Amino acid sequence: MNTSQMVDMQNYSTLLTLFDRYHNFALSTHINPDGDAIGSELSLYLFLTRLGKSVKMFNTDAVPANYRFLPFWESIESARSIGTYRPEVLVVLDASTLERIGKTLSKTLSPTQSLINIDHHATAEAFGDVNLIVPSASSTSEIVYKLIKSHQTPIDKACALCLYTGLMFDTGCFRYSNTTAETHQIAAELIEIGGFAPDEVYRNVYEQVPVTKMHLLSEVLRTLQITDDGKIASVYATQTMFRKTRTTADAVEGVVNQIQAIKGVEVALCASEMADRSTKVSLRSQGGVDVSQLAAEFEGGGHARAAGCRIVMPYLLAIATLVQTAQRYIDPRHVGQGDCQKG
Ligand code: 5GP
Ligand code: MN
Repeated sequence: MNTSQMVDMQNYSTLLTLFDRYHNFALSTHINPDGDAIGSELSLYLFLTRLGKSVKMFNTDAVPANYRFLPFWESIESARSIGTYRPEVLVVLDASTLERIGKTLSKTLSPTQSLINIDHHATAEAFGDVNLIVPSASSTSEIVYKLIKSHQTPIDKACALCLYTGLMFDTGCFRYSNTTAETHQIAAELIEIGGFAPDEVYRNVYEQVPVTKMHLLSEVLRTLQITDDGKIASVYATQTMFRKTRTTADAVEGVVNQIQAIKGVEVALCASEMADRSTKVSLRSQGGVDVSQLAAEFEGGGHARAAGCRIVMPYLLAIATLVQTAQRYIDPRHVGQGDCQKG
């Protein structure tokens, strides 16, 4: 066992001690929640509830329609429901900074005893009183799985489904480089316990696409630009496109993965114009460039191969700035001003 594994073990047992000690828990996860965010939140909710705890969940954004097949998603409340409620313990899942749960929520939801941070982002900040940050874990759901296992409480069917959904989502359906033999072993165990059909989980998450999203995608793909060296691909989505196709910014999810698949592309980015005219950027890499570092230059973060940031700039300027910065990562000699010259 190496040093970081020992630290992990200690943090797992510290967390379990807190779970035993306190009674009132609140859980939260990041804005625009994805499969791992919702999966890890609901599975921890089910585990703590099973231990007889009183547990509430508060998220800034609503549960996306494609995760509404998961048990207890309706128990997730919005920031408006907090009122004067204060949990003893607040557990924040899958959020690399506390602000990622949303500005209002991060200020109003304050625990009386302890703030726990469970995350697997490479750029995770240790903002909690107790931090269980495991960058080697495929997903936050995998960390929750290990937490439950180390408590030696059996995982029930509902919990298995939530954990599997998180694991499936964050490994890109077991395709990304964070997929290991262990990920498959955990997935196999969860399928056995849960008794669900993996193809049905897949269909629920990925094949309930509203036709409006397809219309948006056709608009977005038309904006494709590739640098002269073929290594950086970018697309954008504008407020006009969202209005025209009757979609919202979350419909852009996944496009960046499509353009990252273009042969020769090392960095892919998708910029979305937000209602306040700032720009949300999703970044993907083939592995050569650590896009979490690139995103961190713009106060964002994430993983080496998938990261994001929000920039207070109009989208075209944001793209030009990011492309130029990305070129420096691809070729450190690059000093060009928005073109593809090599310095
Ligand atoms: P996506 O592009 O799918 O929205 O996000 C990819 C990864 O980057 C996710 O792991 C997500 O948590 C992280 N990420 C996306 N946007 C931001 C951001 O604005 N700040 C930080 N810290 N991480 C982000
Ligand atoms: Mn995650």
